[in-house]
Amino acid sequence: MKITKKNYIYKNSFIEKIPFYAKNVYFRYKKAYTLCYNPNSYKGVILLDKKNNFLLKKINGKNKIKDILSLAEAINTIKEKEALRLIRLLINYHIISLDKNELNKFFFKKEKRILSVWFHITNQCNFRCKYCFVEKTNENMKYKTAELSIKKLLLSAKKHNFEGAHFKFAGGEPLLEINKIIDLVRKAKHIGKKIKIETKFMCITNGSLLTEKIASLLKQNDISVNISIDGLGKIQDKTRVFRNGLGTSSYVLRGINLVRRLNILRGFSITVTVENIRHLPDLIKFLLITKKIDAALVINFYKNHTKQEIDLTADDNNMFFYLKKTLKIIYGETNTIKSFIPSKRTIFDSVEFFRPSLTHCGAGYSYISIMQDGSIRICPSTTKNAGTVYSSTDIIEQMRKKNFLFITTDKIDKCYNCQWMAVCRGGCRLQKLNLYGRIDTPSPYCNVYKKIIPFIIELEGQRLFNFILKRYI
Ligand code: SF4
Ligand code: SF4
Repeated sequence: MKITKKNYIYKNSFIEKIPFYAKNVYFRYKKAYTLCYNPNSYKGVILLDKKNNFLLKKINGKNKIKDILSLAEAINTIKEKEALRLIRLLINYHIISLDKNELNKFFFKKEKRILSVWFHITNQCNFRCKYCFVEKTNENMKYKTAELSIKKLLLSAKKHNFEGAHFKFAGGEPLLEINKIIDLVRKAKHIGKKIKIETKFMCITNGSLLTEKIASLLKQNDISVNISIDGLGKIQDKTRVFRNGLGTSSYVLRGINLVRRLNILRGFSITVTVENIRHLPDLIKFLLITKKIDAALVINFYKNHTKQEIDLTADDNNMFFYLKKTLKIIYGETNTIKSFIPSKRTIFDSVEFFRPSLTHCGAGYSYISIMQDGSIRICPSTTKNAGTVYSSTDIIEQMRKKNFLFITTDKIDKCYNCQWMAVCRGGCRLQKLNLYGRIDTPSPYCNVYKKIIPFIIELEGQRLFNFILKRYI
């Protein structure tokens, strides 16, 4: 860089400043590198060369940058230019700041504003999953109700400055209503185009009804598929059974193969219960290694939303043990430059690493459910209505007015003081309400989150390190 008077003044004022560590920064000193990560930022993990540890330790909220530079050069032979580069890198990753007021700051990534709509197109299902929160009836959403909901939702989304609306057709089993879905998708696309709002569609299906014909219809209409699966063979057959009690796994496998071939398979939803936790590593191995499927893995922790007598919650230690095993398999398979965390290949119970937020999910704000009878709900798992699509002129406003789950995680004392507040975000609010009668408290899965989050960060660090090794050595 050419040294100009401006550069000179800038550098001089820069080195007079005192750097501080951000409040929740996570460090791990490994043999070959040091890992740094600010959970309050979207920037992610960085690895530093071990010899820079010296420099890290000299950042103590007292030393000015110029002191650190001369100490580094004198004792540790880190050249000024290199030390300056490192300090700038740490600032860029939000690990340190030169402004004391920024230490608690959240660095949110600017993203498209998307409204997620859970569209409960039918309450009928051909399965009888043992943990399912939906009380099955023969009720379907009437076409008129569905059409009205879509129209009102898109207009409301536009009014509230959403840039897109992503519809998830669910139920019950949505593929029982495939023709209705196709008509509605065409309608929604048409309105979306007219009012300039992006529309996307997905079916959350148990996979058993996927045939060549249905899969092609989905493909032709740009509808992706997310398949709920709990395990392989007998494991799936234990909790996910047909109405007559028979196992479903072979039908689901057939469905997976079909949608995968047509490239419309977007992901799997797996609910972790006491029944299947031991088999989770095998399931992941099967999907990623045997089947070589490249799709998102959404691993949800079981929540007894309907207060069923048989509680299927797995014990914390078991969960940690098997989740660890599962993660090692996933990381073994994704040992490339592409990190699976930010690309959302896998999400544990809505824990998100490089997307800090102060709410665990968008329920009641950017996530809305429309039930088969036209009632509005702020979350698909609640039984409480927040009005109906018929009576509301502005559906989003109506939902927000009735948001009984509204709280930001920084208002929960124990979470506010937790390093992982912006990553875990306090856990599912409905689960807390059902279990404890309040939402201003940490999640019942708090201990699992606290163990699994640093474990994942370290795996991510190891992935980065392996990648660097492969590339440069
Ligand atoms: S639920 Fe537990 S892990 Fe999550 S933010 Fe609150 S205290 Fe932290
Ligand atoms: S409140 Fe809980 S169950 Fe409802 S959408 Fe959020 S995370 Fe899911």
